[in-house]
Amino acid sequence: MPPATGHLRIIVLGSAAGGGVPQWNCNCDVCRQAWQAAGAVKTRTQSSIAVSANGHDWCVVNCSPDIRTQILANPPLHPAAGGGPRHSPIKAVVLTNADVDHVAGLLTLREKQPFVVHGTKAVLGVIERNPIFEVLDEQLVARRPFCVGEPFAPLAGLTIEAYRVPGKVALYLAMADSGQLETAAETDHTVGLRVSRADGSASFHYIPGCAAITPELAGRLCGSDLVFFDGTVWRDDEMSAHGLGAKSGQRMGHMHMAGGTGTIAAFAGLDVRRKVFVHVNNSNPALIEGSRERAAAEAAGWEIAYDGMEVVL
Ligand SMILES: [Zn+2]
Repeated sequence: MPPATGHLRIIVLGSAAGGGVPQWNCNCDVCRQAWQAAGAVKTRTQSSIAVSANGHDWCVVNCSPDIRTQILANPPLHPAAGGGPRHSPIKAVVLTNADVDHVAGLLTLREKQPFVVHGTKAVLGVIERNPIFEVLDEQLVARRPFCVGEPFAPLAGLTIEAYRVPGKVALYLAMADSGQLETAAETDHTVGLRVSRADGSASFHYIPGCAAITPELAGRLCGSDLVFFDGTVWRDDEMSAHGLGAKSGQRMGHMHMAGGTGTIAAFAGLDVRRKVFVHVNNSNPALIEGSRERAAAEAAGWEIAYDGMEVVL
């Protein structure tokens, strides 16, 4: 039986970046293996975790277009037997940015179920300006802004503090802006989260999108028990190198894993006890079990998250 109290329970609902693995229209080397049931690549849904401090009430961090599949796959998120005609253990959704793979699932969570959506004013403002999100009745689904640096409690017993990380505004907003695109600005449009038990007995960081590891961010993560970090691409140019698109990882607002300027190197001296890549794009060869890239990441002490991965702190 999973512990009911006294712990932080984390379930990786979706470990892939936008598009998932395989992506519906993709024939890249990684997706090709994911399309084959017996291939060396596990299928993965889009970026999200669920966190609970009591085993009953859950906070979903980022709400992907795959949320319905993710709920089906994870019994702790099913309606409780005896919970009445309508019930969900999901009491809160926290957003780290307004990317499609992090907010589109909110549309699935309509159906007159009360919960609270937490985000920065900048991120909630994006939702505010998209009238389709009005399907979430604001009488039932409150939108509650948080400020970076000010801890808040999305659930009793659970504390979250957000901090700015280098990144960009959501792609669909960037497309509307024909001017110079800032891809590594530190604004309220992209945040990382420190999630902890209210009594301070356990904590971890969740950073699914990050364009650079600044000295300040490195200092914040140093000595942590657990960090889930942006693992979008292996190499910055891997999309263009494989004919999948013109954008570099940096242009998408994401770090790359490998090389002297990559995440693996940046974490080398940070004394983080457990390091897990999340938000992994389907172009990333580290998704291939047994690949040279997977071996290199693991040799450096990294794990590649998979859907359903559970951690108890
Ligand atoms: Zn692919």
